[in-house]
Amino acid sequence: EQTETITYDMLNGLSKRSFPLCMRHLHEQMVQQHHLKHLGRLQYRLFLKGMGLSLDECMKFFRHEFVTNGSMNPAQFEREHVYNIRHAYGQEGKHTSYTPYSCMKIIQDPPPGVNEHHGCPYRHWDTQTLKQRLTNNYDINEETVNEIIDKTKNHHYQIACQIFFEYQHKVKNYGVGINHPNQYFNESRKLLTG
Ligand code: SF4
Repeated sequence: EQTETITYDMLNGLSKRSFPLCMRHLHEQMVQQHHLKHLGRLQYRLFLKGMGLSLDECMKFFRHEFVTNGSMNPAQFEREHVYNIRHAYGQEGKHTSYTPYSCMKIIQDPPPGVNEHHGCPYRHWDTQTLKQRLTNNYDINEETVNEIIDKTKNHHYQIACQIFFEYQHKVKNYGVGINHPNQYFNESRKLLTG
């Protein structure tokens, strides 16, 4: 189980080693654009909560990107984001603790539009984009890229995700079926720190 104490400054490193592609992409957009649209924020925030990032650290992370590195003024951040972040952690409204999204939900939910970055890359990116990014941004070798593309063409998105996992962790036939981004993360931490 989760034993590491995670702080927001660890997210860059963790995203490279242990995030599934959907969350790695959201993290990169956060850090590069200092912004994420609504559905991306929801998907990413709940994942962060699920991986054990505390409300405090989550708040620091969003403030750091939106205000310190981005162009949002602090008052706007207070007005538009503090409540929503607390809400995701069950600290506002009905005090419901919102559950991080499963792969099934992410795959079936409305696809990302222009300038939106939520969703599942294997489901929602076109083949050319997926191929290019896997090769150029994530250094995946050609054989593995082709395997992944092949799975996505046959609508086996979670198997494509598993191939990425195995490549990233240098394991073969590891046998984990990927069904949740947080499960991906936990399996990764088990392998890398266990
Ligand atoms: Fe994320 Fe699941 Fe898609 Fe993998 S299969 S990228 S964990 S939504």
